[in-house]
Amino acid sequence: MNDRPVRVRIAPSPTGDPHVGTAYVGLMNMAFARKNGGKFILRIEDTDQERSTKASEQAIFDALKWVGLTWDEGPDVGGEYGPYRQSERTEIYQKHVRDLVENGSAYPCFCDSEALAAIRERQRQAKQNKGYDGTCRSIPKDEALARMKAGEPHVIRLLVPDGTTTVHDELRGDVVIDHCQIDDQILLKSDGYPTYHLANVVDDHLMEITHVIRAEEWINSTPKHILLYQAFGWEPPKWVHLPLLRNHDKSKISKRKNPVNLLYYQQIGVMPEAMLNFLAMLGHSMPDEREVFDLLEFIEEFSFKRISLGGPVFDVEKLMWLNGVRIRDMQPAELAARIRDTMMPMDWLLQVVPLFQERMRVLGEFMPQAAFFRQPELKVPANDLLSAIKGDKDPKVMAKWLLDVAERLDAIRDFNPQEIEAAIRGWCEESGVPTGSLFMLLRISLTGRRATPPLFDTLAVLGRAACSQRLRAASTTLKSAPAPK
Ligand code: GLU
Repeated sequence: MNDRPVRVRIAPSPTGDPHVGTAYVGLMNMAFARKNGGKFILRIEDTDQERSTKASEQAIFDALKWVGLTWDEGPDVGGEYGPYRQSERTEIYQKHVRDLVENGSAYPCFCDSEALAAIRERQRQAKQNKGYDGTCRSIPKDEALARMKAGEPHVIRLLVPDGTTTVHDELRGDVVIDHCQIDDQILLKSDGYPTYHLANVVDDHLMEITHVIRAEEWINSTPKHILLYQAFGWEPPKWVHLPLLRNHDKSKISKRKNPVNLLYYQQIGVMPEAMLNFLAMLGHSMPDEREVFDLLEFIEEFSFKRISLGGPVFDVEKLMWLNGVRIRDMQPAELAARIRDTMMPMDWLLQVVPLFQERMRVLGEFMPQAAFFRQPELKVPANDLLSAIKGDKDPKVMAKWLLDVAERLDAIRDFNPQEIEAAIRGWCEESGVPTGSLFMLLRISLTGRRATPPLFDTLAVLGRAACSQRLRAASTTLKSAPAPK
């Protein structure tokens, strides 16, 4: 195992905006690969067909490239171990799961949702652990295979034997897990699609991954993965679970407290090399405590030994500081070019210009009018927000509206004007808040102005992450505003 050439991967699921955590884990993987002359692979885990989108997949590629990651194999660059998109590998998983049923490590389960609900109810009454109770384990194999053949709906479950599994994590040492905590995990769903566990293990094996370097939140899945390696008779990779990124209050990083969409930072003009530098400092330290460094220096010093497990804080102030240091280091001509290219890229202009075209007389009017789109942290005063509503108003109630709407927007699949409009109008209808009041409040919260281009187009161009950040900021401002007399 140790003499196998290093092959590592990240395996994001394309179900939303490109997350800063993906870039962080990606950077650590890439540094390890580069340091050891190995390969870094990008695999797309899109087995959740309901939530996966092509737009999200593309945004992952764009965001990771922007920050400076390069992968040796992946859906967009190809490679010898492809396809690198799980939705294109369904037959591979089905074949492998058949092998497991054949060798007795997995079994078909015919329990339908009613049967599962009855099991849960029995467990609730007996105050037992929740989880599948193994009913279908006792079906004789011949009978089970015949029922499968006859087309009876079923899933395939892993047969988890009694006992314990030891996860040896390269950073944490041994973690022993009792199997009573592990459910007979579903491997193949009734629609023939694999679950995360099966697809992840099969791919890591077939793609000859030597080290699985991923976020701490997956450590609970690792015993299941080890059991799968044993069931297949395969040698598992080495396990490295990186510390979880945290908000200032030590909670797991979330968009409620910090923008987590990587592209948001691009949009406000964080420079990719500063972002990379910042990510490289999360949990990993340089030997001389150096804080400003570039990718090659990082790769040079990268080592698991330099990773500390005490949840690194995703400190946006630090990121801004690092960016500022780099700005001061630049030649004015270089800085000017960066400002032009970053703040007014052509694809952005092409989106925004049509929104202003109707009302512009001379070109000089464009920048002041469109400036709100590119402001890093828009601070709208409480009085401006309150002015959105005539007559009686309660800032706390308005604060709650903004949070509710932010949550609605977070859940939209494609962040386009039609879907945004449907989500916001839907919320107004359900909550009984008049659209007139809400629309003005949204407009002011998001732009700081009363007159803007059409609201839903404006939101779409601003993007989900900026909308989320601004609505939450305005909500916080309102929460602490005194109620007007
Ligand atoms: N698809 C998982 C994710 O979204 C992959 C986790 C892993 O690296 O095993 O992060």
